[in-house]
Amino acid sequence: MKALLALPLLLAAPSPSAPPLPDGEATALLEKAEGRASTGKYREAQRLYRKLAKDFAGTPEGRIGERRARPSAFLGAADIVRNGDSGNRVDIVLMGEGYQLKEMKAFAKLADDLPNYFRRNRTLGEYYSYFNFIRADLVSADNGVDGFGREYDTALGGHILGTYAGHVAVNGGEVRKMLDELPAHDGQAIVFAKLGVLGSGGGGIATIGGRNMKTTLHEFGHSFGRLSDEYTSETHKRGATKANVNVTDNPDPERAPWKHFIDAKVPGVDMYQGADGRARGAWRPTANGCTMGAGEFYCPVCREQLVKLIYTMVDPIDRAHPAPHGSRSDEEYVVEGKELVLEVTAMQPANHTLEVQWWVFPEAEAPRPTVSDNPDAAPAKRGRRSTRNPVELAPINVKPHQKSKGKRDGEHELRFKRSAFEPGRYRVVCRVTDRAKLRGARHPWVLKDDRGLLESEAGWWVRVPSE
Ligand SMILES: [Zn+2]
Repeated sequence: MKALLALPLLLAAPSPSAPPLPDGEATALLEKAEGRASTGKYREAQRLYRKLAKDFAGTPEGRIGERRARPSAFLGAADIVRNGDSGNRVDIVLMGEGYQLKEMKAFAKLADDLPNYFRRNRTLGEYYSYFNFIRADLVSADNGVDGFGREYDTALGGHILGTYAGHVAVNGGEVRKMLDELPAHDGQAIVFAKLGVLGSGGGGIATIGGRNMKTTLHEFGHSFGRLSDEYTSETHKRGATKANVNVTDNPDPERAPWKHFIDAKVPGVDMYQGADGRARGAWRPTANGCTMGAGEFYCPVCREQLVKLIYTMVDPIDRAHPAPHGSRSDEEYVVEGKELVLEVTAMQPANHTLEVQWWVFPEAEAPRPTVSDNPDAAPAKRGRRSTRNPVELAPINVKPHQKSKGKRDGEHELRFKRSAFEPGRYRVVCRVTDRAKLRGARHPWVLKDDRGLLESEAGWWVRVPSE
């Protein structure tokens, strides 16, 4: 009897090695430190992280404090431009490398200017509202770039590459660790290395020495767009040219990655020798002018790639209300009063609007379910968000009941009138498509969209009661 009573008492007794009970104090201190950093009070943030590390050692918050109190560390983050929820935007995280505490205000100012680089670019400017820009505040103990036998203590391990000009690069693993300090991200960072020249880009990370708009957009073409160099000058010894979206080692236009542009007779697109940092043996799509060469704007081939990649992270349907149902769902909305209003908010490029089409099908004629049709799929997760997995849309061969185009606010609705339908169950389908065709343009920006990235669907089951 005694032994049985003793057991729960023993379990309830605090053991000396147990971490402090979660009383919210650590979380409050962490939030306070992050708040200081986001308003530019970096020294104060550092002090609070040191306190967090000391007072809450061994707890998850204490470990965050320990990490952020280091001489080179992540101190916090702030929105520069927020165009929408991170779940349906491309989050670009801006980071400074080699910025010491007293220089971080200067970095914040540089970061503030960056969204304008995007806005002024023809391609990225058209899709400007699809991006968020977030500043991550990184402090470096030293300002310097590793190389020529010297090592510096910096946030991202900036170093000089073995190119003739000594292009600057950072350690990708360190960048990803900093990205993981954020509640959510898309694995996309633009790093400004204070000291360092030119830049480099790949795997979601663009690094720019100093500050230069043209270099930034070129490196972003590598890091986000996975595009190759279209310039001919040799910057370093490279291996054999690999065929990519905008560069090929084969002069045959029939085998060109951009054959669909040649077939569509898009002006200026053909086979031009000289790309991938060499004058011979590599071909590019346009004579000159692409940002991936030395030009100011992305060529049509690079532009198509960028738009498609934006749509791997952004759904053309920004919001649907009420919550849509999967095509196999048993759930339904009953039309109680005179009508049921279904709403969709489409994404809004700068100079063209998305096409929105609505259909109402009696249950028996509803489009057949497709493999990946699941509205609950791929929710936004902590850390790197899973890329969008577009639903393979079932073909619909009847005219839409309603078509709405040209609405500037992106908001569209279907008023399902009870009096217009017999009692029964109906499937309402709304499809939103970006035709990527700007006014006055002869060709759409996206000529081939095999994965259906530029379209999306919301569907609802609606019951008209017999009463
Ligand atoms: Zn190009």
